[in-house]
Amino acid sequence: MKTVSDAAVVGGGPCGSFAAYNLARLGFVVTVFEEHHEIGVPSHCPGHLSIKGLKSLGQYPLGKGIIVNTFTGANLCSPSGKEFSVHLSSPVTCTVDRASFDRHLAEMAEHAGAHYQLGSRVDSLIVKDGYVKGVAVRQNGNTEEFLARLVIDAEGVSSRLLKQSGLNALDRSMVVNAVQARIRNVKDMESNMVEVFLGNDYAPGFYAWLIPENDDEAKVGLAARTGNPRELLQRFILKHSIASKKLTSAKLSQMVFHPITLGGPIPKSFSNGFLAVGDAASQVKPTTGGGVIFGMSCAKIAADVASEALRANDVSSRSLSEYQKRWTNVWGFDVKTMLRMRKLLNRMSDETMDNAINLCRRVGLNKALEGVQEIDFQGQSLLHFMRSPRMLTTLGYFLYLYLSINP
Ligand SMILES: Cc1cc2nc3c(=O)[nH]c(=O)nc-3n(C[C@H](O)[C@H](O)[C@H](O)COP(=O)(O)OP(=O)(O)OC[C@H]3O[C@@H](n4cnc5c(N)ncnc54)[C@H](O)[C@@H]3O)c2cc1C
Repeated sequence: MKTVSDAAVVGGGPCGSFAAYNLARLGFVVTVFEEHHEIGVPSHCPGHLSIKGLKSLGQYPLGKGIIVNTFTGANLCSPSGKEFSVHLSSPVTCTVDRASFDRHLAEMAEHAGAHYQLGSRVDSLIVKDGYVKGVAVRQNGNTEEFLARLVIDAEGVSSRLLKQSGLNALDRSMVVNAVQARIRNVKDMESNMVEVFLGNDYAPGFYAWLIPENDDEAKVGLAARTGNPRELLQRFILKHSIASKKLTSAKLSQMVFHPITLGGPIPKSFSNGFLAVGDAASQVKPTTGGGVIFGMSCAKIAADVASEALRANDVSSRSLSEYQKRWTNVWGFDVKTMLRMRKLLNRMSDETMDNAINLCRRVGLNKALEGVQEIDFQGQSLLHFMRSPRMLTTLGYFLYLYLSINP
């Protein structure tokens, strides 16, 4: 058994590394255990992130090669192929190379003093007297125990350690299965516009996406509540009335499969000696499946609370509950709003979705949305745009749908 750290972090993804960075720079001894031998690989995510969100975390602009493209708008395609486009005056989102982004965050954490143990899989937590006291780690076929005053669980959506810490697992009924790939030789793509395709034939319970890297290369993918993502993607590429025209002669590579958790954060994200951050705590936007900005912002809060608890030598559940309070203050209203939106979207038929997009077109909602700057805090954005009569009409329709679909 080894005593290594003030904090052991499970997982070297963006949330684990950001928590490690923020704790290590305050002088704490931090060890990050990552099961893979390389940070950021395999990458499962197209890394479509809000620029404002990155700035708020001190991560924009980023070094060379990390940001691949920026976007000034989005084309939304309804199930029957009707398009609704929103154009903004300046870039609001970007796509990062996720492997480089993850490596950049890990390097930051290392420069701040965090130690990385790669090829090290945490099999279980060490729990004594009701407190998490460290981790049992599998390295080169052997299991070794590492004691730590506090464990930060950033293991992603698999979240196998939650149960052992006494916390509830994330809501598996709200998990969708996703596929993500790169695609070359795409035709007629606007390189500054993200494309989103709705419809139960291709992406039941979510959507398909095309995120341009340049004029003819893109990240393509979809997620679905039911069906085989590989087959759905093939069908989308070959048969979708709009997408297939752009993708007929395109070449797919780097196909990866991974789940996305859309059920909103787990009800409790702390216990004695233990904090859960990022996908492990289901800190993911239920509307879009975006978890990088949300999770990293919670990881920063987790590091702040952990530092206070370690200094006070009190890592009890009572002391760490401050973490939940703080992140709920920042994200709570928006997550609740997004979860309601997700539940409404899940119940909409293709025909209802078509009608809703028709309404958006008819009332000229794109004009009302031209000033959008905020895509992370979607609840607050809605409140802001309610001043516009166009938005009010649309919201009235969605409220009618919500009440009639969720009696
Ligand atoms: C197809 C797809 C598309 C997405 N698109 C976007 C998007 O465009 N924008 C966005 O913001 N979000 C997106 N997301 C969500 C985003 O990828 C996650 O929210 C984000 O990666 C969460 O970061 P994390 O650090 O919590 O977990 P992860 O990035 O999953 O990192 C967890 C790390 O922990 C390691 N690990 C797991 N278990 C153990 C263990 N027992 N021991 C040691 N190491 C372990 C893993 O190897 C991994 O490196 C997408 C997700 C998917 C699947």
